[in-house]
Amino acid sequence: MNNNPNEIQASTTSMEEIVELCKRRGFIFHSSEIYGGLQGVYDYGPLGVELKNNLKNAWWKDMVHKRDDIEGLDSSILTHHMTLKYSGHEDTFSDPMVDCKKCKARLRADLLKDNACNNCGSKELTQAREFNLMFKCAFGPVQQDKDFVYLRPETAQSIFINFKNVLNTTARKLPFGIAQIGKSFRNEITARNFIFRTREFEQMEIEFFVKKDQAQSWHEQWIQNRLAWWQKQGLKKENLKLQHASIEDLAHYSSSTVDILYNFPHGFDELEGIANRSDYDLAAHSKNNNQLNIDATVQHNQDSNTALVFKDNDSPEVTPYVIEPSAGVDRGILAILTEAYTKESVGDGKERTVLKLAEHLAPYKIAVIPLARNNEKIVQKAQELASTIREYGTGRIKYEDSGNVGKSYRRHDEIGTPLCVTVDFETFEGDNETVTIRDRDTMLQKRIAICELLNLVEKGKFNNLF
Ligand code: ATP
Repeated sequence: MNNNPNEIQASTTSMEEIVELCKRRGFIFHSSEIYGGLQGVYDYGPLGVELKNNLKNAWWKDMVHKRDDIEGLDSSILTHHMTLKYSGHEDTFSDPMVDCKKCKARLRADLLKDNACNNCGSKELTQAREFNLMFKCAFGPVQQDKDFVYLRPETAQSIFINFKNVLNTTARKLPFGIAQIGKSFRNEITARNFIFRTREFEQMEIEFFVKKDQAQSWHEQWIQNRLAWWQKQGLKKENLKLQHASIEDLAHYSSSTVDILYNFPHGFDELEGIANRSDYDLAAHSKNNNQLNIDATVQHNQDSNTALVFKDNDSPEVTPYVIEPSAGVDRGILAILTEAYTKESVGDGKERTVLKLAEHLAPYKIAVIPLARNNEKIVQKAQELASTIREYGTGRIKYEDSGNVGKSYRRHDEIGTPLCVTVDFETFEGDNETVTIRDRDTMLQKRIAICELLNLVEKGKFNNLF
């Protein structure tokens, strides 16, 4: 929970530029805006939901489909309070909070600069006290003290409590992992930096179960794997770095944690944590855990009805160690937008804003533009072409007739559409129908036969067009 983000130069793109673009183009809106907004809660708009789904799909494809040692899970958000009692969250999932006596702001004590209020600069602060971050809510129609659940603060715990279910139904042997993408909720003391720290967010987590003697090497492998994966999403190597958690900063379950930091507009800060959680979690949720041969110190569990252990043929039961790569979807989106956001001069003192998103992440893959909106033949051909491309399942294809072609190009530069295809008067000249295609990043244009374009797009080969 505790690290110090207040270091090093921030990226050159400002948070204001990103927030403004996100709102104006429909990526991300402040939640409940018409009622004054909910602090630290955001809604993803038409383009944001595409970008977010594309990121989650890329993760699922690479972490689950392209491997043969990870199973998926989609568990409930409402979480039994016993789960979060034995995980240690009820007692320790808290941040130190102070109040500013002058302006009454509530602040995270570990994120203060020079022991002064981040809001007004006053040094008159209360003593730090622990504030539990979990959302507790009533459960069922009869409201007694014991009838409550938590909104999960991480997706991890529901993976641990399903360990036996997955093991029994998939006949896995160690090492194997369980992956999950889903919402988590934390009542953050100070939600800030746009979608970096919010009260409702999504995580992409893997719990990878290994034998103890292989834990360290798997930890190393996962750090490298995840670092490479973020680069595949377009994040530059120089904007990523690893930070080893110091002993004081280690969470109660962790024997070692390495964070992947990204150079966000507010500075280098955590994008993903990769922890070696030892045998803490499975042991913590196991019945009779005082009889297990484990390394971690856990609370004696008197409520679980199962021992979450692994047994292979004649060898004795073991409580697996867990390596956990845990990434934030929203922080991923913020990093990707920060990296992609570019302002470029286009001559004559003019500038364009372009989102240089990796193609697989772009909300729209292609915009099809009719050069003349009042020419029936052109309009019809452009609509027909857009429908044909849609059928290939390449992703969202936008029929764009909201302005002249120059404005359409600028609009699609700004939202990261890799390719614009324009149907014009020349389309119908010659034996083969042709269109003008334009590349987002280089702004190069060329004429291509529609059949050739369709052939390449059907094969998903956008890159080969120029
Ligand atoms: P921090 O120290 O920034 O509070 P953390 O160490 O508590 O984060 P973890 O519990 O390791 O975070 O959660 C794993 C990942 O989930 C983080 O790396 C981050 O990407 C994401 N995450 C955690 N808290 C939030 C939040 N409040 N808003 C958005 N994403 C979050």
